[in-house]
Amino acid sequence: MTVRLNLRTLFLDHSAALGGAELYLLDLAPAFAPPGEVLLLEEGPFYEKLRAAGIPADVIAAPEAVRRVAREAGPFRALRAVPGLLRLAWRVARKARAFDLIYANSQKALVVGSLAAQMARRPLVWNLHDVLTTEHFSAMNIRLAVTLANRFARLVIANSEASKAAFLEAGGRVPVVVVHNGIDVERFAAVDSEQVVALRQKLGLRDGPVVGLFSRLAPWKGQHVLLEALAELPDVQAILVGEALFQDEQLYAEQLRKRAAQPDLEGRVHFLGFRDDVPELMQLVDVVVHTSVAPEPFGRVIVEGMLARRPVIATRGGGAVEIVRDGETGLLVPPGDVQALVAAIRHLLEHPDLARRLAEAAYRDARLRFSLKTMRRKVRQALVEVVARER
Ligand code: UDP
Repeated sequence: MTVRLNLRTLFLDHSAALGGAELYLLDLAPAFAPPGEVLLLEEGPFYEKLRAAGIPADVIAAPEAVRRVAREAGPFRALRAVPGLLRLAWRVARKARAFDLIYANSQKALVVGSLAAQMARRPLVWNLHDVLTTEHFSAMNIRLAVTLANRFARLVIANSEASKAAFLEAGGRVPVVVVHNGIDVERFAAVDSEQVVALRQKLGLRDGPVVGLFSRLAPWKGQHVLLEALAELPDVQAILVGEALFQDEQLYAEQLRKRAAQPDLEGRVHFLGFRDDVPELMQLVDVVVHTSVAPEPFGRVIVEGMLARRPVIATRGGGAVEIVRDGETGLLVPPGDVQALVAAIRHLLEHPDLARRLAEAAYRDARLRFSLKTMRRKVRQALVEVVARER
């Protein structure tokens, strides 16, 4: 019980951008901080969000040479980054001495956290948010992450069975527990219908069906598959919610915009950029689609669509199959299959009763299986055990 009350966790995340892993931490941290704290390696929107939520947060900025190594990999870059990395780890370690454990919430945080945990003699837990396969990462990157985890982490918390399986397949030998993301159901509780009508007008949507895709713009998220499907669904409009987060995704975003400007799609595809009002936007669409062409590590947006009481279509693979029961709580289609996506969208639009039934069943299921409470309890339990073993 003492451990339970005094669990002081230092959450470490390298990112300033609001990706799924950061939004997860934003929901997890309030159960631990204070006395825990979130430490970021870069200032930006994530830091602002944490502060606005009243979560103790701090930034120790990674030196430029360390940041660049991620973008321009290569042995020389890596070597040049070593002194900066050691200094950074040292500063993190100094801070970590006031905590019971370090919780690395990203792969780059794992690198810094591994060194800092050794220096500070604190146990390290890694929350794995990725499927470690060559579809997503270079072989070197995977080897580095697995080696560090095996050597330095006491426990890996995987965000899905799929992430866990890929980690073990890649040689992971540390104990792994799976904790699915919990999503705040209150945010998705009935949004004012007048608000939705106003939002629809503001976005310049015409009458008629709308599908929504809520993901950052990235080739593996498969927005291009939806655009090709729309070419065969001339009455359907789409909102694409999310922005390219990383440098190499900018080109893809440009290609999507070009494709959407062609005559067969013109005026039907709305790029909304990154938005804070995902729950409201989900209320105005008829179907939430998820189109990832590589296995999704978890797929928060799928659960969110379910909590928004929308029928969802997701691609089969990764965490998506742990979320959706095909034909009961949504529809699953093969990744990259335009015709299957066209058929699924058409089916739901032509059978509103079925769409409503799926959405209701999905809502009930998601509330039960992906609650914030369960997520926080499972993580706490795992951390308490790690700290108790240490004492
Ligand atoms: N999201 C958001 N605004 C956007 C696009 C996405 O807040 O404009 C959120 C979305 O609601 C979800 C998260 O970003 O909570 C994406 O998480 P997911 O697991 O689907 O994918 P990831 O980005 O982690 O690959």
